Amino acid sequence: AAEPAEAQRLLAQVPIIQQKLDETQKLADANQPGRGLPYAAWTLTSFCGDLFLQALKLLVVPLVVCSMICGITSLGDIRKLGRLGGWTVVYYTITTGIAVLIGIVLVQVIQPGVGADDTFAYVDPSAQSNQNASALDTMLAVVRGRPGEPGSGMFPSNLFLAASETNVLALIVFSLVFGGALTTLGERGDTVAKFFDGANEAIMKMVGLVMWIAPVGIFGLVAFEIAKQGGGAAFLEQLQALSKYVFTVVLGLALHGLVLSGILALLARRNPLRYLLGVTRAMLTALTTSSSSATLPITMECVEENNGVSRRAAGFVLPLGATINMDGTALYEAVAVIFIAQSLEVPLGMGQLLVIFLTATLAAIGAAGIPSAGLVTMVIVLTAVGLPTTGIGLILAIDWLLDRLRTTINVYGDAVGAAVVDAQVLRGET
Ligand code: ASP
Repeated sequence: AAEPAEAQRLLAQVPIIQQKLDETQKLADANQPGRGLPYAAWTLTSFCGDLFLQALKLLVVPLVVCSMICGITSLGDIRKLGRLGGWTVVYYTITTGIAVLIGIVLVQVIQPGVGADDTFAYVDPSAQSNQNASALDTMLAVVRGRPGEPGSGMFPSNLFLAASETNVLALIVFSLVFGGALTTLGERGDTVAKFFDGANEAIMKMVGLVMWIAPVGIFGLVAFEIAKQGGGAAFLEQLQALSKYVFTVVLGLALHGLVLSGILALLARRNPLRYLLGVTRAMLTALTTSSSSATLPITMECVEENNGVSRRAAGFVLPLGATINMDGTALYEAVAVIFIAQSLEVPLGMGQLLVIFLTATLAAIGAAGIPSAGLVTMVIVLTAVGLPTTGIGLILAIDWLLDRLRTTINVYGDAVGAAVVDAQVLRGET
């Protein structure tokens, strides 16, 4: 008797799926240039946004390489790297852990998924293809790279392919070892280090130039996004359907922002408000680009120029943080997965919450600093607790918004980390 019931349940999904597909098509139609908006207005708005984004992305590869090499060679004594690296890793781990914890507690208390409409869970063909990837496979792929893609992983077989794919983690690993090797070469090493120091200076000047077009670029990206979402009505509709879930994530991110500010005041003895003002432009850029990596040039400029953090700390903590320290993403992954479980009425025990705690942290580390990366690595968390990966379909509609918000906290977490490491490791030592 179970089978016809199951068949009936699936059949009942058909019109819903059809409706979702129609909605997607409508959205795609609205995205055609010239529809809805005057063609020239549409084109020019997206032109300004694209230009800004491309200029930023253009600088990421040279910036990561130069700043990382400079950061390492300027430490002078390679033993200092131990303390610098140690503090950085401790900071990343503790803050990410706190973020996940905030997420888990909030989602358990607010219970946004109880009674939520779970029909969206059946419409995500892209998530289905990932179903077989185990958590272990996904994590190993971060280190070794994906088979058949020589530019991926932390140890890619081709550095130039890695650069062309903006594989920041690979560039960091290479630059770190290269910088370390330079410090052992004496005078010849110093010559090369000076070269990279000059190159770094020049790149930072170029970042300063891009800052000039940032306001126009940010405006362009925001306007384009609103137009693409089909104006206010469609947006409100999405927001309403998932309002409790969105509220939980936003509240969690805000609380975590406060925690970070507290850590900043305590460990770096800085005024959080003033520090926040100094990095406003970076956070706005994160909000509009949904990408920590694309924001990196501006984060470095803000942290060094406006907030006076040493280049050695910023050059080490920020590029690494942009790829592996993602507090907002970790928090979001925990909330999203538990929300999916609640919607699908799958009860979670203490053990499973612990698994979510650990895998959400890993998934955040594994996520690249690009838009929607967190959504993809969420597969790790879902599979670890045995939830269907198609559950991602439930939260897909609103991810474009939450991605921006979590990226903003990701960037703030990195910026605070730079100040903390600067204060704890480098200040007073030289
Ligand atoms: N977009 C985020 C970032 O760049 C990553 C994510 O999708 O959570 O920081």
